[in-house]
Amino acid sequence: MSWRSPWRHRSLVTATELLRRLLRRLGVDETPLLRRLVRANNRRVRRYLAAAPPRSVLLILPRCVQRGCCRVDRSGSLAPCRECRDCPLGDLARLAERYGLEALVAYRSHVAFAMARERRPDLILAAACEDRLLKALRSVPEIPALLSPLTGMARPCVDASVDLAWFARELQRLAAAPPPEVPRARHASAGL
Ligand code: SF4
Repeated sequence: MSWRSPWRHRSLVTATELLRRLLRRLGVDETPLLRRLVRANNRRVRRYLAAAPPRSVLLILPRCVQRGCCRVDRSGSLAPCRECRDCPLGDLARLAERYGLEALVAYRSHVAFAMARERRPDLILAAACEDRLLKALRSVPEIPALLSPLTGMARPCVDASVDLAWFARELQRLAAAPPPEVPRARHASAGL
C-alpha cells in the first residue's frame, strides 16, 4: 500500500490558495481553515498508518523552538539537546531517544523539505506555524506527515512552544502499533 496525498493535485493547491487570498482580502483570519486542513491530513495519515506501520520516523522542528541558550549546530541533530532542560528541544530530544527516532531542527523550511527528501522516512512528525505546515503538505506530498501547529510564541518566529503532549501521544501510538509486515523474499517463498 502506498501513500497517496491529495496535495499532489494541483487543483487542491490552487483552490486552497484562492480561498486563502479571499479570506485575507475580507480580513478574515485564515488560521481555522489551515488548522482544519492539517487535522484532515492527520486523520488521513493515521488511517494509512493503520495498514502500513512505519519502520522509520523523522521528527522535524523549526528554528523558532530554540531558545537563546541553544547550542544545536547547523547539522540540525537534536542529539546534543538530550541533557538540556532549558528549552522544548531538550524534551523532544529525550522523547525521540526513548522511541529510537532521529530528530532534527531545520533552520529554514526548504532545508526541512530537503532533509525529508534525502532521508525518505516512512513518516514525518513535525511542528511549525500553520502557514509552514500547509507549505509542507504542498512541498513534500510523497511522504506522510503527522503535523502539529505551534502552541504559542513570544514574538514572530521567536521562542515558540510545541505541543509536547501531542508528540508523546503520537509516539506512544506508533510504539503500540503492530510491527510492519516484512515482505518475504522471493527466494524464501520459492524454498531456496
Ligand atoms: S514561526 Fe513559522 S515561519 Fe517562523 S520560524 Fe517558526 S515555523 Fe518558521
